Amino acid sequence: MRIAVLTALFGLALCATPAAANDWPGGARAAVVLTYDDAMPSQLEVAIPALDARGLTATFFLSQVRQADVPRWRAAAADGHELANHTLFHACAAATFEADPRYVTEAYTIGSLLREIEQANVMLAAIDGRDRHGFATPCGQSTAGGEDYLEALRASGLVTYVRGVSVEPADLSAEVAAMDRMHVPAKAFDADVTGAELIAWVQEAVRGGGLTVLLFHGVGGEHLPVPAEAHAELLDWLAANRDLVWTTTLQQALDHAAPEAAR
Ligand SMILES: [Zn+2]
Repeated sequence: MRIAVLTALFGLALCATPAAANDWPGGARAAVVLTYDDAMPSQLEVAIPALDARGLTATFFLSQVRQADVPRWRAAAADGHELANHTLFHACAAATFEADPRYVTEAYTIGSLLREIEQANVMLAAIDGRDRHGFATPCGQSTAGGEDYLEALRASGLVTYVRGVSVEPADLSAEVAAMDRMHVPAKAFDADVTGAELIAWVQEAVRGGGLTVLLFHGVGGEHLPVPAEAHAELLDWLAANRDLVWTTTLQQALDHAAPEAAR
């Protein structure tokens, strides 16, 4: 009798424990956001056509935009993709890679970096007509003149969120409404990643019930590429599992989780 009661209580406890405190549209178990950094041509030529063919939208962090590409970025925004801020000149720490000495973060102050982020917002607004933009830190670094600028950026109100470049297992089951918008975690992949590995990562997010942000650069070539075939396999899986995962832009996922923060 006592065992039966304990078993019943244990069963109740299991039932009462949801995977995560998120309520995604259409009963989806997780939200998946594909992000692409650095305004690379392969994103326009490979990634966006692949997304559009499957009716999926994604987030693109633009930096060092080529003027000739502006009409295509504008069309991408009109088609529902999110354009977001990645600074104008993509300054990283001098030790990261060889760069013009004026465009390394040691040469900036927090004030000058924030002014650059503000001007990048103006560029984005001229392309997409929107007045709210998210941000991703170049090289995953958030320093200017040796000081961390994230709190100054938060206080400035210039950006709606900051996507980082690392992720912890617990992030996949986190309550997104409570997530610190200045530290949105993301997962990057090696150049030899397979479609099965990308899908397995998204399935972890489905088990966790949270949000997962995938970070890409080149698709099928260029800087830090993922294979175009692996990328296409992931998109096929996402398109075939719309009841399970909500594939959307990062701004939409965050606004859905905390509508009071949206305007
Ligand atoms: Zn970048």
